[in-house]
Amino acid sequence: MNTDCIFCKIVAGQLPCCKVYEDTDTLAFMDIGPIVPGHTLVIPRMHVDPLMAAPPEVLQKLIVVVQKIARAQLKAFKADGINVIQSNGRAAGQLVPHLHFHVIPRFAADGHHWNWIPRPYAKSEEMGALAEKIRGALE
Ligand code: AMP
Ligand code: ZN
Repeated sequence: MNTDCIFCKIVAGQLPCCKVYEDTDTLAFMDIGPIVPGHTLVIPRMHVDPLMAAPPEVLQKLIVVVQKIARAQLKAFKADGINVIQSNGRAAGQLVPHLHFHVIPRFAADGHHWNWIPRPYAKSEEMGALAEKIRGALE
């Protein structure tokens, strides 16, 4: 447990949450600031952050619970779709530094719009050069 971490405090029962699901490794609870009503967070009980530092066995269990919550949201709310969001670092909009997945039910007219602006590459070679950098950094 990280004593400065609000999600660790939720896991330890020191802070309240509106629990949706739990097992030995994972906890799912309602986000207090939902993008769309029903927005749920799925976290490992273990303190780990960011995604890149997480052991594969933690991630494997986590993603199965993400799927379980997404299926339950579809059924419970008759949602039209589901967003799964996971952020790492302030630059990526992460506020709570304990690994978590947002599972968000979506509806055709829910009024939420992502500020997602596609920006084409200026030069045709740029995409290939960036792909080469990523390939070179793979472990
Ligand atoms: P992120 O920006 O990915 O770090 O998202 C953190 C999320 O945690 C936000 O959507 C917050 O609304 C949510 N959050 C923060 N504190 C709590 C809390 N005590 N209980 C439930 N959700 C929380
Ligand atoms: Zn934590």
